[in-house]
Amino acid sequence: MANFATHVGVAAVVSTMTATAYLATGRIDSYEALVLSVIGTLGGILPDIDAGHARPLRIIFVGFYALVAFSLVQQGAGSLSILEMWLLLIMLYIVFQYVLLDIFKRSTVHRGIYHSILMAVFMGLLFTSISHAWFQFPAHYAWLSGFFLGLGFIVHLLLDELYSVDFNGRRLKKSFGTAFKLINPKQWQHNVLLIALIVVLLQYTPPTWQFKRIVWNPATYEKMGQGFFPKQWPWEKL
Ligand SMILES: [Zn+2]
Repeated sequence: MANFATHVGVAAVVSTMTATAYLATGRIDSYEALVLSVIGTLGGILPDIDAGHARPLRIIFVGFYALVAFSLVQQGAGSLSILEMWLLLIMLYIVFQYVLLDIFKRSTVHRGIYHSILMAVFMGLLFTSISHAWFQFPAHYAWLSGFFLGLGFIVHLLLDELYSVDFNGRRLKKSFGTAFKLINPKQWQHNVLLIALIVVLLQYTPPTWQFKRIVWNPATYEKMGQGFFPKQWPWEKL
């Protein structure tokens, strides 16, 4: 399995390169490209939240706490006193740190459902819905955010798989095939639950037409192709 630093590094490079390519087509601006790169990098550590005490789990939980706390503050501002807000935030932290994290740790198996393409789709859709409903991202940008989160997630799975090839001994390690898989072949009930959740989530995702105009549009890639190589190579200037 690839280590934490490798996952962060590769996910950051891949998502920044992808965001740059879209930026060059003029379909997104530079601020959006930056945020999408960060989201893609987060996606790259997300699958290892099932690894028990590992750092990714804590980072993801703190990140998630921050998101919920942020929307709480946004909704409570004006109607609640500072003291009430503080108490709420502390209570929320205790719930996250000592209740949810504990339940989560007990209920997950490393390299189970969290290392699957089905989970990547679910996480992408979940993030699309959350960023639209809570952070008020416009529809196309919410979809792009979910898309980048899923992209980082898939990069993680591929990296884990790549690391299960022992290049020196030219053989496959035992872990081969446990990371990049469509579903979890061992616990079918997890797959059924996840598919059901995806169907529910699809009711809450914003309209897709603007997103499709960017990502599903041949014109975008034509433009990317045109801007891929320099107009003039350095030696042509000589
Ligand atoms: Zn992993």
